Amino acid sequence: MEYYENVLEAVGDTPLVRLGRIEADEGISACLLAKAEYFNPGGSVKDRPAVKMIEVAEKAGLLKPGGTIVEPTSGNTGAGLALAAAVRGYKCICVMPDKTSREKQDLLRALGAEVVVTPTGLTPEDPESYYAVAERLAREIPGGFKPGQYENPANPLAHYETTGPEVWRQTAGRVTHFVAGMGTCGTITGAGHYLKEQNPEVKVVGADPEGSIFSDPGNVHSYAVEGVGEDFYPGNHDPAVVDEVIQVDDRESFLMTRRLMAEEGLFVGGSCGMAAVAAVRAARGLPESAVVVVLLPDTGRNYVSKVFDDEWLLEHGGVSPEDLTKPHRVFEEED
Ligand code: PMP
Repeated sequence: MEYYENVLEAVGDTPLVRLGRIEADEGISACLLAKAEYFNPGGSVKDRPAVKMIEVAEKAGLLKPGGTIVEPTSGNTGAGLALAAAVRGYKCICVMPDKTSREKQDLLRALGAEVVVTPTGLTPEDPESYYAVAERLAREIPGGFKPGQYENPANPLAHYETTGPEVWRQTAGRVTHFVAGMGTCGTITGAGHYLKEQNPEVKVVGADPEGSIFSDPGNVHSYAVEGVGEDFYPGNHDPAVVDEVIQVDDRESFLMTRRLMAEEGLFVGGSCGMAAVAAVRAARGLPESAVVVVLLPDTGRNYVSKVFDDEWLLEHGGVSPEDLTKPHRVFEEED
C-alpha cells in the first residue's frame, strides 16, 4: 500500500511546469519554469512553513497538547496552520487584515479556525493592528502559541529543507535564476540560501509590489496584490541572499495572473502574476541555457471574487476596459 500517515506528509514535492506560451509570446530564449505551489493540500506554499513551525514548537515544548495556535496571517499560512491544528489536535485562531478576500476568511472558518478581522493599514505598533492583536491573544489565552512567521527561523528553514532542494533536484542542478515574491521573506531567504550553497552563481530575484518597502523604502503605500510586500523589514528578511528586487505594479500583476490561467492553464493568485512578471523581466536577453524558476505561491480559488471578477479588477486593480480586450505583453513590440 502506498499512503501518507496523515495529510501533512503530502505537503511539498510540487511540480515544475514550463511556461512555454509565455516564453514564446515574450521572446524569451531561456527555459521558464513555474513551481506550482497550489498543489499543496492547503492550496499554497505556506503549508511548508506552517507545518515546520508547529513541529519545531512541539519539540521545543512551546506548544503543548490542547494548545491554541494564534497567528496574524493573510490567509495562506492560516490554512496550513488550520490543517496542522486539525491533524495534531490544537485550536487555531487567525488574525487577518480586512483587505483579505472574503473567500480566504470563509475558507479558514471552514477549516475549523476562528477568524479575527482587524483594520488594514495600521502600523504594527498600533494596538488594533493585526500583528498586535495576535500578540495579545497569544499572551492572554492559556496554552496560546504564536508561530510568528515574520521572525520564526523555522519559516525559512522549511524552504531551506524542502523548496530549495526540490528546485535543485527537479532542474538537475541547472537552475540559474530563482524568482519569488517577498512577504515574510521565508521563501526567498530559505530557498535562496540553499540554492546559493549548491551554486553561488544562482541569481536570486525578489518580486515586490509597487508600494512595498523592499523595492522602494521611500514610497510605502497600499496596493491590491495580497500576501506579498511589507511596510516593515521582517526578521526573516536577509538582504544578503537577494541579488535584485524587481518592482511590479497591481495592473501588471493582475493581467499576468489572468494570462497564467488563459495561456498556461495555471489557476493561481495575484502574487503569482506578480512573480511571473518579474521572472519574464529577469529572463529577458538570457541565453537558451538559462533556467529561470519562478515560485507561484497559491491558488486562484482564493480570488474568484477579486482578480477573476472583471468589475473588481476594473475598480481596484488599476486595469482599464481596453486591457481586458487585448492580449497583454510584458514586453511590447517597440521595447
Ligand atoms: N504570495 C502569497 C499569496 C502569500 O500568502 C505569501 C505569504 N505571505 C507570499 C506570496 C510570500 O511568501 P513569503 O512569506 O515566504 O515571503
